[in-house]
Amino acid sequence: MKKIFLTRRIYPEAMELLEKNAKIEVWSADMPITEAQLIEKVAQVEGLISMLSNPITEKVLQSGAAHSLRVVSQMAVGYDNIAVEQATKLGIAVGNTPGVLTETTADLAWALLMAAARRVVEGHTEVHRGIWRSWGPDVLCGTDVYGATLGIIGFGRIGQAVAARAAGFHMKVLYTQRHRDLAAEERTQAQYMTLDELLRQADFVTLHAYLSAETRGMIGKEQLAHMKPGAILINTARGAMIDQAALYEALSAGHLAAAALDVTDPEPIPQNSPLLELPQVIITPHIGSASTQTRRRMSVMTAENVLAGVAREKLPYCVNPEVYAQRK
Ligand code: NAP
Repeated sequence: MKKIFLTRRIYPEAMELLEKNAKIEVWSADMPITEAQLIEKVAQVEGLISMLSNPITEKVLQSGAAHSLRVVSQMAVGYDNIAVEQATKLGIAVGNTPGVLTETTADLAWALLMAAARRVVEGHTEVHRGIWRSWGPDVLCGTDVYGATLGIIGFGRIGQAVAARAAGFHMKVLYTQRHRDLAAEERTQAQYMTLDELLRQADFVTLHAYLSAETRGMIGKEQLAHMKPGAILINTARGAMIDQAALYEALSAGHLAAAALDVTDPEPIPQNSPLLELPQVIITPHIGSASTQTRRRMSVMTAENVLAGVAREKLPYCVNPEVYAQRK
């Protein structure tokens, strides 16, 4: 029987599927597996199930390829933690879970947008701590979402799902990415523009690109300065896209009204990060896709991918299909 190593236990129906078809080992320690421990584990298996917090580096892949690792199946749509180019060179297929988490992640982006706009977390904290005393005309006033302008950076699956939600709030929707998408514009009535123009016009800016050399640090001091005074920044994509020190400056100077981040760099955000001192900053622990239904679907997809990989079949959801062209 083929061997598969999982860096975390996944949902029961997926575990059942795996156990029926392969010999399974699951990392069960509280702390996430380290690179050195992964190097050791991948040398003993044909398939690896990884999470986005696992460093699937060149060294890990080389260790696996030197033995019999054929597939890395990640339980996430993003795979910036995996050295994909190296995997391809080594003949290792890489799988992910696109599509099934789109609406769930868009829901969270929307929840963060609403919470930041209407200061929900600040209000909650004031009530819980007994700070709030009475209703007042200017107590915890936020900003309107209805009729505002929403700027979406990265207009793929999740970006467009966020745009669909904006229609119910009669928002004007702007988007930017490298390629203009006329079909998406027709579906969503969104308007394409440069990043700079979007930052100047939007009341809310939300990130939905994937992390790459180009998007790493794409929202820095200069871009934050171009945002409208009082604008709100939401990030459910990847933390490294925003320069967090520059964000702290923009918020504490009062240029931005608020920020809501599901992702930070690093994760978890260090307890001494100045961002944690700002009441207008909401930070959630990377829970974009965290609904039971979606995590169940992601688990099954991840299992299907790894089982295809160890059986030397094409992965149903493969991020490096070029790997097949070079395999003998
Ligand atoms: P997707 O369909 O591939 O969309 C990504 C979009 O980013 C594409 O439309 C792409 O368009 C755009 N993009 C790429 N480079 C860009 C750049 N330099 N500037 C602006 N836009 C750029 O991916 P998705 O399924 O929507 O997921 C997006 C990302 O969300 C994932 O990669 C993941 O990192 C993150 N995510 C986070 C959570 C969470 O738990 N918080 C959950 C799910 C996903 P062009 O190629 O035209 O530029």
